[in-house]
Amino acid sequence: MNIAETSLETVKHAIQNQKSFFKNGHTRSISNRKETLETLYRMIKDHEEDIIHALQMDLNKSEMETYATEIGILLEEIRFVLKHMDEWAEPKKVKVAKTHIGSKSYSVPEPYGVTLIISPWNYPIQLALAPVIGAIAAGNTAIIKPSELTVHTSRLLERIISARFDGHVLKVIEGGVETTGHLLDQPFDYIFFTGSVPVGKVVMEAASKRLIPVTLELGGKSPCIVDETADIALAAKRIAFGKVTNAGQTCIAPDYLFLHKTIKEQFITEFKNAVVTFYGPEPLKNDKYGRIINERHFDRIASYLDDGEILLGGKLDRTFLKMEPTLMTPRDHSVPVMQEEIFGPVFPVLEYENLEEVIDYVTERPKPLALYLFTNNEATEAAITGNISYGGGCINDTLMHIVTPYLPFGGVGESGMGSYHGESSFSTFSHYKSVMKQTNKFDMSFRYPNGKFGMQLI
Ligand code: NAD
Repeated sequence: MNIAETSLETVKHAIQNQKSFFKNGHTRSISNRKETLETLYRMIKDHEEDIIHALQMDLNKSEMETYATEIGILLEEIRFVLKHMDEWAEPKKVKVAKTHIGSKSYSVPEPYGVTLIISPWNYPIQLALAPVIGAIAAGNTAIIKPSELTVHTSRLLERIISARFDGHVLKVIEGGVETTGHLLDQPFDYIFFTGSVPVGKVVMEAASKRLIPVTLELGGKSPCIVDETADIALAAKRIAFGKVTNAGQTCIAPDYLFLHKTIKEQFITEFKNAVVTFYGPEPLKNDKYGRIINERHFDRIASYLDDGEILLGGKLDRTFLKMEPTLMTPRDHSVPVMQEEIFGPVFPVLEYENLEEVIDYVTERPKPLALYLFTNNEATEAAITGNISYGGGCINDTLMHIVTPYLPFGGVGESGMGSYHGESSFSTFSHYKSVMKQTNKFDMSFRYPNGKFGMQLI
C-alpha cells in the first residue's frame, strides 16, 4: 500500500478554505479553540485501538510503547494546554518607560493564521499532532502533512480527522515529496517542520521566498557521555532504554557514546544485562522489540556494522527488518557511523581520558539536538552544560526531558530552530503584538519639531 500524492488543485482549495475561515474570526474565540482541542482529545481517546494497530503495522511498536510515546504524551499535552491557555492568551501589561509616562503598554498574543505542519515517520502520531495542539490553542488553523512512509498511520490520521473536522480548522493532506512541494508553494502564515536536516533546508528555502516564519525540529548526532563517577549499572539501563526505544529511531536517541576508559568494560557488561532484562537473550525474537521502518533504512544502518569492531549484538533479520541493539568500536572518526545520524540501534563507543577531549570533539561538530551526561560530579556537569551548546538533554537520564510540558523542546544550530511543548507551543504559534496606548490628558511638546520643554495639559 502506498500513499498517493495530492493534486495542486486540492492543496490550493484546502488552504483557501482555511484562509476564509480564519478571516471570519472563528478561531479568535478562546472557547472555540478549546472546543477544537476537546474534540481532538476525544478523537484520540476514541481511536486508541486504531492508533495502536496502525503503529504496530508501520513500526511494530508495542502497545505499551505506543501509549507511552504517542497517545499518552498527546493526551497529557492537551490537558495541560486546556488548563493554562486562558492565562497564556491574555494580553500582558508591561512596564512604562520614563519617556512614556501617562501611557500604557501591552503585549498581545495573536494567531498567525493558516499553519502547515509537516511531520516525519518515527513518532507519526505524536509528531503530527503535538504541534497542532499549540497551533489550535494559539488560534490558528492547521494543515497536517504526515509522512508517506508510515502508510497506516497516515491513512488513519486522514480518516479520523476528516470524520471530526470539516477541514476549516484542521485538515490532513497526504502525500510525499511532490505534495510537500505543492504545499511549500502556498501562502501559509507559519510552517512547522519536523524531519531531517537536508529537508529542513528545503523547507526554509521555500519559506524564505514568502518570508514565512518557520520552526524547524531537526536531527543530528546526539552524544552520550559516561564519566568515572557515574552509577554505571543505572546509567547503562537508562542509556539502553534511550537507544532501544523505537529501535533507536528517535530524534533524541543517544547517537554515540563517550565512555571514560576506566569504566568502559563494566559499562558494556551492564548494557548487555539491561538489553537482556528488556527483551531477553534474543531481542530479534521478542515481539515487543520494534523494527526498522523500511529496507532502505535497514540496509543503511546495517552497513554501519562494517565501520568497526562489534562489541555486543550485531545480529540482523532482514525479513522482519529487525536489528539487535549493537555496541561497536568505530575504526576512526571518518567512517559513516561517526559522520551520519544513525537513527537505529547501532551504538558506536569512543573512550576518553580527559573531559576536554569530549568537549573539543562535540564542539567541533554541528550543535546536537540532545546531549546526555552520566556523572555524580558537579564540576563535570558544569563543564559540559557550560561549554557545549545543544538543544536540550538530561543529566543521569535519556529522553525524559521531552516528556515534560515545563521544558521547551527544540534544537539549536543544525539541529533546529524554535521550540514547543506546553507554553512554548503556544508562544511558537503566536505573534506577540506590541501595543502602546497613549494618554490624551497631556502632551509633551518637546517631541515635535520646534517644540518647547515641558508638559502641556489638554
Ligand atoms: P524527512 O526529512 O525525510 O521527512 C520529513 C517530512 O518531509 C515527511 O513528511 C516527508 O514527506 C517530507 N519530505 C521528505 N523529503 C522531502 C523533500 N525532498 N521535499 C519536501 N518534503 C520532503 O525525515 P524522516 O526520515 O521522516 O524523519 C527522520 C528525521 O527527522 C531524522 O533526521 C530525525 O532526527 C528527525 N526528527 C526530528 C525530530 C525533532 O523533534 N527534532 C523528531 C523526529 C524526527
